[in-house]
Amino acid sequence: MPMIPFMEKFPELAARETRSVTTNEHPDLPDGEYGFLELYCNEPGCDCRRVIIDVLRPETGWSKVWATIGYGWESPEYYGKWEGAGEPIELKGPYLDTLNPQSEYSPALLDLFRMLIESPEYVDRLRRHYQTFKESIDREHNRSVARRKRVRDPRRRRRHVR
Ligand SMILES: [Zn+2]
Repeated sequence: MPMIPFMEKFPELAARETRSVTTNEHPDLPDGEYGFLELYCNEPGCDCRRVIIDVLRPETGWSKVWATIGYGWESPEYYGKWEGAGEPIELKGPYLDTLNPQSEYSPALLDLFRMLIESPEYVDRLRRHYQTFKESIDREHNRSVARRKRVRDPRRRRRHVR
């Protein structure tokens, strides 16, 4: 599942609705801002209901990934249907995605994210972003399938013959 930043497809909505946290004398984290950027899967027809969070900071030019967190908002049973994709509990998370960049601060940032998802409003926002993202992926996919069909349509071809 290729994961694409929500910001790439919906820059304005993402600018308004990306969660960030500013720490001040946190025991385990440097002071300052932490942005929790959302990435969603762009595979048409896939309903994985998960988000990958890249934790970035303005202090590091929004480019260094401080932690990569995986999270699914459905019940563990929902994720159980992907056989061989890992333990359902692991897919639900939140967990540190060890295949992607982490830093020495990852465990503290995972704790911070756990706190964020205690807010039902934030979890709803993730779910809504996922739906918006997925609808756009599926719409684009259906359009390109329809386009390919039209090109293959012999009646249409004939019309172009002079
Ligand atoms: Zn997916």
